[in-house]
Amino acid sequence: MTITQPLQLLAPLSGVLMPLDHVPDPVFASRVIGDGLCIDPTSQILCAPLAGVVSNLQHTGHAISITDDSGVQVLLHIGLDTVNLAGHGFSALVEQGQRVEAGQPLIEFDADYIALHARSLLTLMLVVSGEPFSLLTPDNGLVACAQPLLRLSLGDPRSSATQEEGEALFSKPVHLPNPNGLHARPAAIFAQAAKAFAASICLHKQQDSANAKSLVAIMALQTVHGDALQVSAVGEDAELAISTLVQLLADGCGEAVTPVALVAPVVQAQAVSTKLLRGVCASAGSAFGHVVQVAERTLEIPEFAADQRVERESLERALTHAKQALQRLRDNAAGEAQSDIFKAHQELLEDPSLLEQAQALIAEGKSAAFAWNGATEATATLFKTLGSTLLAERALDLMDVGQRVLKLILGVPDGVWELPDQAILIAEQLTPSQTAALDTSKVLGFATVGGGATSHVAILARALGLPAVCGLPLQVLSLASGTRVLLDADKGELHLDPALQDIEQLHAKRQQQSLRHQHELENAARAAVTRDGHHFEVTANVASLAETEQAMSLGAEGVGLLRSEFLYQQRSLAPSHDEQAGTYSAIARALGPQRNLVVRTLDVGGDKPLAYVPMDSEANPFLGMRGIRLCLERPQLLREQFRAILSSAGLARLHIMLPMVSQLSELRLARQMLEEEALPLGLKELPKLGIMIEVPAAALMADLFAPEVDFFSIGTNDLTQYTLAMDRDHPRLASQADSFHPSVLRLIASTVKAAHAHGKWVGVCGALASETLAVPLLLGLGVDELSVSVPLIPAIKAAIREVELSDCHAIAHQVLGLESAEQVREALYVQQQAMVETSQVLEN
Ligand code: PEP
Ligand code: MG
Repeated sequence: MTITQPLQLLAPLSGVLMPLDHVPDPVFASRVIGDGLCIDPTSQILCAPLAGVVSNLQHTGHAISITDDSGVQVLLHIGLDTVNLAGHGFSALVEQGQRVEAGQPLIEFDADYIALHARSLLTLMLVVSGEPFSLLTPDNGLVACAQPLLRLSLGDPRSSATQEEGEALFSKPVHLPNPNGLHARPAAIFAQAAKAFAASICLHKQQDSANAKSLVAIMALQTVHGDALQVSAVGEDAELAISTLVQLLADGCGEAVTPVALVAPVVQAQAVSTKLLRGVCASAGSAFGHVVQVAERTLEIPEFAADQRVERESLERALTHAKQALQRLRDNAAGEAQSDIFKAHQELLEDPSLLEQAQALIAEGKSAAFAWNGATEATATLFKTLGSTLLAERALDLMDVGQRVLKLILGVPDGVWELPDQAILIAEQLTPSQTAALDTSKVLGFATVGGGATSHVAILARALGLPAVCGLPLQVLSLASGTRVLLDADKGELHLDPALQDIEQLHAKRQQQSLRHQHELENAARAAVTRDGHHFEVTANVASLAETEQAMSLGAEGVGLLRSEFLYQQRSLAPSHDEQAGTYSAIARALGPQRNLVVRTLDVGGDKPLAYVPMDSEANPFLGMRGIRLCLERPQLLREQFRAILSSAGLARLHIMLPMVSQLSELRLARQMLEEEALPLGLKELPKLGIMIEVPAAALMADLFAPEVDFFSIGTNDLTQYTLAMDRDHPRLASQADSFHPSVLRLIASTVKAAHAHGKWVGVCGALASETLAVPLLLGLGVDELSVSVPLIPAIKAAIREVELSDCHAIAHQVLGLESAEQVREALYVQQQAMVETSQVLEN
């Protein structure tokens, strides 16, 4: 083997060094594109870190690649999301194809302009050809432009550039122990290990093979837990490479794993023994029909292409057509929710880092299809591994648009399923596009293994009025097509070969429900007064002016929770004062001076990142910089929001509510800021200030918070997840993460007691308040206001009208002593039946 001299890379800029892990962009931080480092620049001319040829210069001038004669390729990327600047602020000093010397100026940039108009000035230097390197200076110090920065170890250049000759050796199959297959991190570790060998190495999954030194190619294999993989190698160190890499695979490539049985757990096409499969309700309702198994076919993707220009054009054409198709879906959407989903898909297609990844792969000689697929899969895998359920669900959207574009590149028609009548679709996962395209004259509902109750597929199913269950066991995929099934989505159940009697019972129940719903709507405007004359305020949880107006038309007596996040998300710059103030004032005006408007300050954080607020990715986002913690760390954001909210004072009965409070100091600091912001406005009266009780710490110390607030509102969604230590969106824990759990109820009871002892009112704005079964319980626990999801306002008001407060006290007292959420539900159900019977007797 020929060992070449190490190569030194010079600092391309002066500035402060930063490890890649700290870059607030998962694509760079995860090293999907390549390892390297980041500089927060203090100079404004980017210089060549090595001598070579300008192998790529983005026409927008924000990124450039230099390739030297031995094939080392270094990408320099100025700022984050700077592609959006469309060239403004950058002047290229060289041309593509030009030979440059180390230290030669490449691009001049206007740091002030970029800092003001882009997400960040942080500049990346990435070794995309993958050579290992060592730092010649501490990774957090100051560097001067052209100072030696990295030392690259160059192996035998043949190892990456040319194919080894000779006969390939193959390993025995290894069964993959990683629960999520070789996703970005284990794949990167595997590729890194493979690069240490001179041999040409491939990883095989059945007929598919991938270059074992390429992260993207490994991820494109789409391995899953239990897959049987083989490693092959050609070259002088092939044997050692195989034994090392096989051991690495068996050990989980850096992930904690448990070994799998030698036979991969394939789903057997055999009769499912049980008659009932349980999942989670994604869209309420029920249906009886016949199983139709649906699966996507795998697409053939060529890896290499001859002409980069042709591939770039092919990608651009496919992207344009995909955007047009999404626009048609938006134009024909049944409602706002459906249209918003495809708008989000259009935005994904414009995502700069996705496009850059694809362009970079095309520049390496890959086909448009391979490049696009690699970019979308790598990003989707990242989303899935960041520990946030919301991001994991967005990964499904990304794969969906990814497939849409991929099919357009490959010229594969977007197949419409031929379905029989009365179909209950069964799939591992449906995509939003597939769901929106379902023919509802034939499809009665669907059931999937993947997905979650908050996924876009669930939202679409609700918009289409299709009952749907997700989170079913894998077994469901082995049901024979044509099997008769009863989908009881309300209970999250799929009954196999149901008895006629069960079908009839369900049918009768649905008819009753629809009559009841009609009755509730007719009475929506009436006050919610119990049989024994106690009035309870029913308000709405909203996130827009349109929802507020809809809530009013359904009988809401105010807004108990305005989730202000909607103003801040899915945009690249923070909303201006005028925009925020305009929205709050419009909502307040729609309510009028007699009604409560409770504006919750921004509740975003690790699980709901904001593009314009750099945040570190967090291992446990729900336990991280979320809600008030983030706002107090960025006081300008909170002060700006306070000023905007205050501008609507007087238009409604204004309340401000702080989310995720766990410390008294947080409340005190926020109050001080509010008072400081209110002072120059000369308001006669400050808005009421309250906190959400959604962290057990706040509930347990409610007696200390109560004297310092005007009100509490209990967020049972978070209170349940933090009390039971169960992720609120976890598909497999959904049935256990139940707000009816006595531990949560006890916290509600003690919070109410503490608040009332200080003369403060308590609302509930979590999803528990929107459950009719919970109404007698919450009233009995002493809650003063229920803030509920808009469509359920009439039902909750009707449920209040059916109870006597004295009965409610008794049932609340009884269930606080029970052991489990099931027992609580059972007790409430029995009581509900008795009340319904009483009210029917009284009405007749
Ligand atoms: C809650 O946690 O119950 C709540 C209402 O807040 P969100 O669902 O917006 O976190
Ligand atoms: Mg919450």
